[in-house]
Amino acid sequence: MKNYDYLIVGAGLFGCTFAYKARQAGRRCLVIDKRPHLGGNIYCEDVEGIHVHKYGAHIFHTSNKKVWDFVNSIVEFNRYTNSPLANYKGRLFNLPFNMNTFHQMWGVTTPEMAVAKIEEQKRQAVEALGGREPSNLEEQALVLVGKDIFEILIKEYTEKQWGRKCSELPAFIIKRLPVRLIFDNNYFNDKYQGIPIGGYNRLIDGLLEGVECKTNVDFFSSEYKANWRNMADKLVYTGAIDEYFDYKLGKLDWRTVSFKTRVEDKPNYQGNAVVNYTSHEQPYTRVIEHKHFEMFGQEVYDCPKTVVSEEYSTEYKDGMEPYYPVNDSRNNALAEQYRELAMKEQNVIFGGRLAQYKYFDMAPIIEQVLGLEIG
Ligand SMILES: Cc1cc2nc3c(=O)[nH]c(=O)nc-3n(C[C@H](O)[C@H](O)[C@H](O)COP(=O)(O)OP(=O)(O)OC[C@H]3O[C@@H](n4cnc5c(N)ncnc54)[C@H](O)[C@@H]3O)c2cc1C
Repeated sequence: MKNYDYLIVGAGLFGCTFAYKARQAGRRCLVIDKRPHLGGNIYCEDVEGIHVHKYGAHIFHTSNKKVWDFVNSIVEFNRYTNSPLANYKGRLFNLPFNMNTFHQMWGVTTPEMAVAKIEEQKRQAVEALGGREPSNLEEQALVLVGKDIFEILIKEYTEKQWGRKCSELPAFIIKRLPVRLIFDNNYFNDKYQGIPIGGYNRLIDGLLEGVECKTNVDFFSSEYKANWRNMADKLVYTGAIDEYFDYKLGKLDWRTVSFKTRVEDKPNYQGNAVVNYTSHEQPYTRVIEHKHFEMFGQEVYDCPKTVVSEEYSTEYKDGMEPYYPVNDSRNNALAEQYRELAMKEQNVIFGGRLAQYKYFDMAPIIEQVLGLEIG
């Protein structure tokens, strides 16, 4: 008899949720991960009593009640509401674009005044095109929201993100730029959002309770790749799809982000979890102050230090963290070819963001696993 029903490669949210469901169904699982810790990209490091989102800030949000109830059955979530700020040359603006932003930008106090201002600037942008369609991101954004919002909140931030001028980026990157004509700084439109009380590691620990796990084990540089069929009936693979097939059709490209994290010897550095830096004056795109995800009111001051991370857009090279798939025609076509190969693999479930070569928020990842029949 084989030791396990499932060998699960990758202890990210997909692998952990799968392990939880399989264990509930009475299945024996082994979870392996090549990193020295469990949790994949939602893993947090404890620094000065603060949960530091090591692989980038993660905010859980969903409108799916089943998903929300599921995660809350593992660990209760707090009331964190994402309401980022933009800092442009020392001036602060609320995000997403809403009545607070427009008041800060123009002093307007009513939706009518804001609409009049935006429409006037949009009209100027359309006139400047002289009847032709926008041919690049800059023209597209100007037509959608006008000059002031574009120049203060979009232009230089986007250039830092992409490493190219907005006038050299394709128009399709920005399809819509929603503006809210109410005073509402809540970034997400979802019904539910929050952070697990006690941090994301609690969610991972809860999902993996009673499941055998091994860290520092790479599926490829170990006995597992060659032997897994002797160990388990089925494989749940959440690593990179091209790596699974030994890159035989070519390598998929990724985009990445790098972080510079430091401890500040003060309880409160920027007064908010997320501040976007929308001018070229700073080389980074955002500064995250991790404690504000989980500490509120006096709790901020009860913890004497704070941890901040600057985020930098970085060109991806081998060995870096593969964060975002590149949605161009070469990569989309290549990923599709790999997916076709994956469909032919017997007793292997390819799941999660790396194996599907698609960006997913956390909630859709959980929704996918909850929808699987675990036999
Ligand atoms: C910068 C960033 C910010 C994000 N912010 C948010 C957010 O605010 N809200 C939100 O809902 N979502 C956010 N996400 C998305 C979220 O991270 C994903 O939905 C989630 O991590 C997907 O889980 P996963 O299990 O598919 O992948 P991962 O968490 O990446 O897990 C895959 C695991 O597989 C392991 N692995 C890979 N290859 C091997 C191998 N050969 N052998 C052994 N182990 C292997 C890896 O080490 C990793 O631990 C963000 C993503 C990024 C990149």
